[in-house]
Amino acid sequence: MDAEPFAAERHAAAGRLAAVNAAVAAAARLAGRDAADIELIAVSKTWDAEAIAPLIAAGQRSFGENRVAEAAAKWPALQAATPGIRLHLVGQLQSNKAADAVALFDVIHSVDRPSLVTALARAMDTSGKRPACYIQVNIGAEDQKGGCAIAELPALLGAAAMLPIVGLMCVPPANTEAAPFFAMLAKLARDNGLAKLSMGMSADFETAVMLGATCVRVGSALFGAR
Ligand SMILES: *Cc1c(COP(=O)(O)O)cnc(C)c1O
Repeated sequence: MDAEPFAAERHAAAGRLAAVNAAVAAAARLAGRDAADIELIAVSKTWDAEAIAPLIAAGQRSFGENRVAEAAAKWPALQAATPGIRLHLVGQLQSNKAADAVALFDVIHSVDRPSLVTALARAMDTSGKRPACYIQVNIGAEDQKGGCAIAELPALLGAAAMLPIVGLMCVPPANTEAAPFFAMLAKLARDNGLAKLSMGMSADFETAVMLGATCVRVGSALFGAR
């Protein structure tokens, strides 16, 4: 074998990972928070195992995907090679994929309607596996976006009482200042007694950390443009 054919890529990926971790830590410090309370999820959607491997080699263990089928095709082999990987589903989930999602993922960030709650509860009862779940809130009230309406959140939380709901997740409107939406999600979580906040992507994760994010979902800042 050639010596280290991918050494340059591994070096670049490790550098991007270090830069994002440093930015998370700096934002946490500014907000008087402990960086250890913030989980960086590397969103690897569209990237293949070859692109993902350097981040694993650099020590990254939490990864996010937005499609169940794509994740099922590439992650089992990577997980077999490296114990301790945490897989997060960050994309919309169809009820007929609930069992596959429960089998594959450690955390599901996109619970947003009663029919999905029912499907997930059934899949968890059948499999005995109970991935932590977030309720996704359509924080900008956008027609095209997933997430439950703010007004429907209390009812959905009530309906989801049998699921291990740990917090709230949002994707704010594009090309707008995200801070007010992050602040609103933080208030909704507080009002409903939920500890965790999944918010912040490549463009705005530092703002999210300053407003209380406990996990940030970062793709392009780690992998490059999709
Ligand atoms: C793709 C995606 C991300 C990561 O987006 P970047 O802008 O590439 O960091 C985060 N959250 C969700 C829900 C996504 O679909």
